[in-house]
Amino acid sequence: MDNAKVKVKRTKKYGRGVYAIKKIRKGEVIASFDGPIYTGRDHWTTDMYNHSIQFAPNKWRDSKGVARLINHSCEPNCGIKRLFDVVAMRTIQPGEQITWDYEMTEKNPDWRLRCKCGLSQCRKIIGNYRNLPFAIRKKYGTYISLWLRRT
Ligand SMILES: [Zn+2]
Repeated sequence: MDNAKVKVKRTKKYGRGVYAIKKIRKGEVIASFDGPIYTGRDHWTTDMYNHSIQFAPNKWRDSKGVARLINHSCEPNCGIKRLFDVVAMRTIQPGEQITWDYEMTEKNPDWRLRCKCGLSQCRKIIGNYRNLPFAIRKKYGTYISLWLRRT
């Protein structure tokens, strides 16, 4: 279920995004990928492709609520707990956009996001956990999806 302290709003760069409307504490679940499971690459629409979360070598899951609209950042305030929960990594203030790092879950051979977060530490091309520097993996720790921490 979606956390009542967030709201979908239009962003400047990425279409819609999810924003805090009240203060959120570290460890709070923001939203979950609780929707249909997709396997393989057959019959995928661009919408499915861009908004589902990877949880196994060839499996993705969508959400019924706002999880699918949460944008990527190279300096995120959230991470992924277990396989499907977007959880605050720190205190989030009202007005802040909710973000996670898509390389906390994705290990795709053929999907890429050109990041426009504009931060000095921006990694520019996002889409594969293999490219996530070890120092950042260490910083994220257990906020990286369980399926990638097992491999
Ligand atoms: Zn970036």
